[in-house]
Amino acid sequence: MAKAIESGSIFENTKKLFHHALKHVKLSEDALKILEKPKSVLEVGIPVRMDDGRLEVFTGYRVHHNDLLGPTKGGIRYHPAVTLDEIKSLAFLMMMKCAVVGIPFGGAKGGITVDPKHLSRKELERLSRAYIRAIYEFIGPDVDIPAPDVYTNEMIMGWMADEYNKISRKLTPAVITGKPVSLGGSLGRDDATARGAYYILKEYAKKKKLDEKKLTVAVQGFGNAGFHIAKLLHADGYRIVGLSDSQGGIYTKNGRLDPDSIMKVKQHKGKLEGVYCVGTVCDIIDHKKISNEEVLELPVDILIPAAIENQITGRNAGKIKATLICEIANGPATPEADEFLRNKKTIIPDILANAGGVTVSYFEWVQNRAGNYWTLERVHKKLKEFMVNAFNGVTSLAEEKKIDLRTAAYAYASGRLLRAIEAKGTTEYFRE
Ligand code: GLU
Repeated sequence: MAKAIESGSIFENTKKLFHHALKHVKLSEDALKILEKPKSVLEVGIPVRMDDGRLEVFTGYRVHHNDLLGPTKGGIRYHPAVTLDEIKSLAFLMMMKCAVVGIPFGGAKGGITVDPKHLSRKELERLSRAYIRAIYEFIGPDVDIPAPDVYTNEMIMGWMADEYNKISRKLTPAVITGKPVSLGGSLGRDDATARGAYYILKEYAKKKKLDEKKLTVAVQGFGNAGFHIAKLLHADGYRIVGLSDSQGGIYTKNGRLDPDSIMKVKQHKGKLEGVYCVGTVCDIIDHKKISNEEVLELPVDILIPAAIENQITGRNAGKIKATLICEIANGPATPEADEFLRNKKTIIPDILANAGGVTVSYFEWVQNRAGNYWTLERVHKKLKEFMVNAFNGVTSLAEEKKIDLRTAAYAYASGRLLRAIEAKGTTEYFRE
C-alpha cells in the first residue's frame, strides 16, 4: 500500500483530489481549515497474549476526521501496511462519503498494523477485544461508530460489540455496525457496498442507454465487495471476463466467469483458522492466468478496482483500456493517475461508488436505536433511493459545471459540509 504511492504522504495526496474541486465550491478559508484537519487522533498499544505464551504489543489507531454532520463513522482495517497516515486519509474519505450520500455522520477510521492471516482465531479474537478496550472512551453510538473494513468482518464486529457491552455493563448495539444479524446487525449489510455500486452502474447504463448484455467487466479484488459486485452484474447479463485477488488473476477473452462457482473453488481449500480464504481465483484451471496488476489493463468496458488503495498510478494509468472505472476500493487511483485519466475516461469515484456500505451501516444504527428491524426488501429499496439520489446530485453538478464526476462529488459533499459549518455560526466576532 504505502510503498505503491508515488510520493509523499497518503493523507496529503488524498486531499489533492479535494483541492482540485475547490475551484467549484465557494469555501471560505476558515471552512477549508476545518475540513482539512482531523479532529482527534488516537494511537494505542494493544497487548495480546499469543497462543505460545509470548506477549505481543500491536499498534492500533482510531481517527475522527470531523463530526460536522453527525457522530463520526468508519471501518476498522487489519493490514500489515496500516499506518497513521493511511488511516487519516481514509477518515477524510469517510467524511466526504457520508456527505455525498447525505447520511448524518462525520468521518472516522481505525486500524491495526497486523497481518491477520498469521493469527489464530483465538489470537484474532483477543486482539479485537483488546483493541476495543484500548479505544473504549473514543467510541460510542453518539460519538463514533466503527464497522468492518479490509480484513475485518461481521464475526469480528460481533466480538467487538460484545466487548463494548461488557465494559459498559449495558447493551448498546448502535455502537458498532456490520454486526451479525443475531446481535442486531441489519439484513443486507453483507453485500451493501457492492449493491450500492451496482445501483449506480445500473443508473449510469440507463442514462447512457448502454446495452448491458454487451458490456464486459474486470474486477480487481475478489473479497467481499469484489465478489458481490461480480455476482450482481453477472446475474444481470454483464460479461465478467477478468477477476483477481492478492495472489493473481484470471481472464477469459470470449467466455464469461461465474463468480459463484469461482468463489466455491476459492473456498474449497478451506479457510485459515476459519476466517480468511486460503484459496485464490488462480485455482480455477480453465482460464488464462494473469497478474493482479494485469487485470487493470484488460480490454474491457468497465474496470472495477475493489481491492486496496493506490493501484492505478502514474505508471499504469496510460495502459488502462476500460472506458468506465467504478471505484469500489477506497482511493484506488493516485492523484497523478486521476489527473491523467480525468478527461479521458469516466470515473465513478470511491466516495460515491462505495458509499453503499456505510449507508446500510446507517440503516443498522437507525434500527438499533429504534429497536425496530427492517425487511431485506426495505433495506434494498432505501439503499437504492440514497444511491440514486447521490448519483443524480453528483451527475447534475458535473453536467452543470462541465467537470468530471470525482471533482463534482467532492464539490457536492463540500457544499453539504459548508452548510453545516455556516449553520453552526462563525467566530467572526472574535476578530478585531
Ligand atoms: N469500511 C466501509 C467503508 O469504507 C464501511 C464503513 C462503515 O460502514 O462505517 O465505507
